[in-house]
Amino acid sequence: MPLEPGDHAVVLGASIAGLLAARVLTDAYRKVTVIDRDAMPEIGAHRRGVPQGRHQHGLHPRGRVVLEELFPGFTAHAVRAGAKSGDVLGHCRWLLSGHRLRQADIGLPGLIASRPFLEGQVRSRVQALPGVTFLERTDIVGLITTAGRRVTGVQVRDRDGDLMQVPAGLVVDATGRGSRTPVWLAELGYQPPAEDRIDIRLGYATRTYRLRPGALGPDMLILTSGTPDNPRMGGLVTLEGGRHMVTLGGILGDHPPTDPAGFEAFAASLPFADISEAILGAQPLDNPVAFRFPASVRRRYENLRQFPEGLLVLGDAVCSFNPVYGQGMTVAANQALALRRLLVHNRNPAPVQYFREIAKAINPPWDFAVCADLAFPDVPGIRTGKIRMAHTYLPRLLAAASSDVALGTAFIRVMGLLDRAEGLLRPDRVLRVWWISRGKADTVAGHDGAGHDGAGHDAINYYGDAVAQREVSGWR
Ligand SMILES: Cc1cc2nc3c(=O)[nH]c(=O)nc-3n(C[C@H](O)[C@H](O)[C@H](O)COP(=O)(O)OP(=O)(O)OC[C@H]3O[C@@H](n4cnc5c(N)ncnc54)[C@H](O)[C@@H]3O)c2cc1C
Repeated sequence: MPLEPGDHAVVLGASIAGLLAARVLTDAYRKVTVIDRDAMPEIGAHRRGVPQGRHQHGLHPRGRVVLEELFPGFTAHAVRAGAKSGDVLGHCRWLLSGHRLRQADIGLPGLIASRPFLEGQVRSRVQALPGVTFLERTDIVGLITTAGRRVTGVQVRDRDGDLMQVPAGLVVDATGRGSRTPVWLAELGYQPPAEDRIDIRLGYATRTYRLRPGALGPDMLILTSGTPDNPRMGGLVTLEGGRHMVTLGGILGDHPPTDPAGFEAFAASLPFADISEAILGAQPLDNPVAFRFPASVRRRYENLRQFPEGLLVLGDAVCSFNPVYGQGMTVAANQALALRRLLVHNRNPAPVQYFREIAKAINPPWDFAVCADLAFPDVPGIRTGKIRMAHTYLPRLLAAASSDVALGTAFIRVMGLLDRAEGLLRPDRVLRVWWISRGKADTVAGHDGAGHDGAGHDAINYYGDAVAQREVSGWR
């Protein structure tokens, strides 16, 4: 059968959101073209269009589950190729709001690797799908429309600088935070979306190391969040190839330096000494590199009454989260699933309905991140009664989780986007928090429980053992 324009979907952007969109579009379209200005590198290599790839990228448990659903066998294959897997509480040191969560195996596998590795693994699975083509080194210039009402394709500039039209039945914009859709909408006479912003003025600096043998014990990750008194944060993760990546972060202009001595001094100033101790005597493999993230931005497409048919937006182009909470890739994955559900009924979903559906995937992590950002007194924003209540309750819950694994598990599942935050307020949990934290609510950073229950085995190869255990009970 000859290919009609309606049989063809085009995805703008070949990063995580674009790749996942392409994957679900292959269920409904005979041909899917993914366009990006970069040449696609080998798996694990950096590229210019994703500068954040030089910094730590945690994949939440929910994100791993969705990848597994879209690409069966994804985790096992990634582990065989060099990614690390381990229990998200047993093999990870969570040092949150000044409290060290008690470690224990909870049967929830995590997957850790560098961002270029993860993206490369996803890309190789998408490239292998029938009907998928990549247009590399191609700049997206604008939309083609019929009288501004319906999008019928895109205009691009190819690698030789020539303008070209790519007709399509559906265009999905996954070009990230710098998406031009708001500008295109205004040019076509539509209202662009309102934006919610949290001005966090975050600065990251990242360096990779080869650690001393045993420097991390059985763990694969250390994550130290800031406290209202000391908002500095840091993470140390195991990467493929026996390397480790340290990312340090500071908000409101208190950014980590990129000279090696300043970088290490910043690491030593975190609320816990774990990262600083782990890199003692380690061999640096590069110099620290910086990244600036001025604000989390959410574009409220779901509130628009009118939007051209044939165009959808997905990923950071809709909502770009404070990266500290590691949500972007997982939320993009949840949006891709929402798109897949709509495509079953209509291969050209109504944009208004689509944006309402993806808003459901964005709301919980956005609320979580906003609430966490506003715990820092100098971050501008409205602290509602609900947010102030969370600022009182969550540090107590985390203090209790320094000795109570059930509470730690409940928190990790919410943060991992498997369960909803409301579950933390279950009466039995509130009672437990109150009971355990009597008299120790203001525990000083680094001085509360330092437990580790029975997770002494090595993190690597964990996935094979744990995969049979319960994984998801989550929302969709
Ligand atoms: C410092 C930092 C750390 C982060 N850490 C985490 C983390 O720990 N965990 C997590 O889940 N998320 C994290 N994120 C978020 C994560 O990187 C994104 O959510 C994820 O990459 C999905 O983004 P995306 O695909 O929508 O857009 P992007 O990753 O920004 O990709 C956009 C793509 O579009 C292409 N493009 C853009 N414009 C054009 C054009 N005009 N023509 C052609 N191509 C174009 C680019 O080349 C690129 O490939 C972090 C983000 C930052 C900034």
